[in-house]
Amino acid sequence: MGTLDSYIVPLPDASGDNVSYQWHVGDDFFSAVGGTEIQEGSLDVTLRVRETSGGYALDFSFEGTVRIPCDRCLEPMDQPIAASRSLRVRLGDEPDDDGEMITVARTEPTLNVAWNLYELIALEIPLRHVHPQELCKAPLPDEDGSDDEDDAPTDSRWDALKKLINNK
Ligand SMILES: [Zn+2]
Repeated sequence: MGTLDSYIVPLPDASGDNVSYQWHVGDDFFSAVGGTEIQEGSLDVTLRVRETSGGYALDFSFEGTVRIPCDRCLEPMDQPIAASRSLRVRLGDEPDDDGEMITVARTEPTLNVAWNLYELIALEIPLRHVHPQELCKAPLPDEDGSDDEDDAPTDSRWDALKKLINNK
């Protein structure tokens, strides 16, 4: 059995009652899937398969962290991820995935959802992901000091005081 065989979902099982699956995905999942964006992580995943009028809905929810390079210092950081996302699946003559609807061959009505799950998790990574400042290996950006709002009132108070002294 391959590492990702436990992610094979038999669709006709969904007829009648809702069917659900639970997985814990870890580093072995990410290395088996082989995506470039995420190589390490730890998430709990629930999948509920529902029959819909046109086919099936695969309702994923997942929560945990992925370990990815920080945008600023490029050292690994843990990005928290929590989301619920659905995929639409139908049975057809030829397997297909147009981004909106996944078509699974009627003759072999199972779907290995490992890659789909990986993509859903990767989509949740924020565009900008950085360490908390105290943990980041990159030097602090300069602009943090210059827009410090406390400086201006202090300066004007000093100016007023200097005027007062000069007038005496
Ligand atoms: Zn960093």
